[in-house]
Amino acid sequence: MKNIKPSTVHFVGAGPGDAELITVKGMRLLKEAGVVIYAGSLVQKAMLKYCKAGVKLFDSAGMNLQEITSLMVSSAKAGKKVVRLHSGDPSLYGAIREQTVVLDQADIAYAMVPGVSSAFASAAALKAELTMPEASQTVIFTRLAGRTPVPEKESLAGLAAHNATICVFLSSAMISSVVRELKKGYPASTPAAIVYRASWPDEFIITGTLKDIAKKARVAGIKSQAMIIVGRALSKARLGDKKSKLYDTDFRHAFRN
Ligand code: SAH
Repeated sequence: MKNIKPSTVHFVGAGPGDAELITVKGMRLLKEAGVVIYAGSLVQKAMLKYCKAGVKLFDSAGMNLQEITSLMVSSAKAGKKVVRLHSGDPSLYGAIREQTVVLDQADIAYAMVPGVSSAFASAAALKAELTMPEASQTVIFTRLAGRTPVPEKESLAGLAAHNATICVFLSSAMISSVVRELKKGYPASTPAAIVYRASWPDEFIITGTLKDIAKKARVAGIKSQAMIIVGRALSKARLGDKKSKLYDTDFRHAFRN
């Protein structure tokens, strides 16, 4: 088995912001860490109160990749426990790979701890079920191309053809382009929402449809740290006869017969 050495570096999902939304395991690792490198813009400082006295804290906002990785390597080699705190879940837009490649080369063991993605915190803020029966049973996580290109086959217009629930990361500054592309596949009447800083004290929500959401976002001045969610699943219409089969009295499953 690979990686039998105890991990000295942990990539920990901090969750969407609220210090209570880190996992119990993530909190324990923060308590034990000698060095913590966190993404200052998206990780609430309140979370750092879990750290022990004497911990060395580094905001990665002011560091480049080489500085981050050499700090991880030197700290791990000095026998310190390192936590690299990423916003939401580290596996989504976390730029993890470029860090783990360096750890692999230096033969330093690491592990990942999942977190609550901002997509789910945004769904919670909207009190929405992303997979609402008969609206959609599929969720797409995507983004518009920025400095990081998006493969051509994953263009927003192409994804829009599915009419699935779609969560668009890293794109609220380009909301007009997002809407223009999505309208190539979704009806303009499709419900749309933008959640700014889900789970933070200043969280706010804008709801509408593809017709008016871009304008509403512009008026509210939302430019960053926001999740765009679009799809019929956000429909305000009550479930009515669209109840899930799971709790249907005529639907028998392993735990109820
Ligand atoms: N790994 C993170 C995403 C990092 S990319 C996760 O799983 O959530 C950063 C993007 O995530 C932002 O541009 C924004 O689209 C979204 N985001 C991060 N935190 C957010 C929050 N609290 N509320 C809404 N969107 C957020």
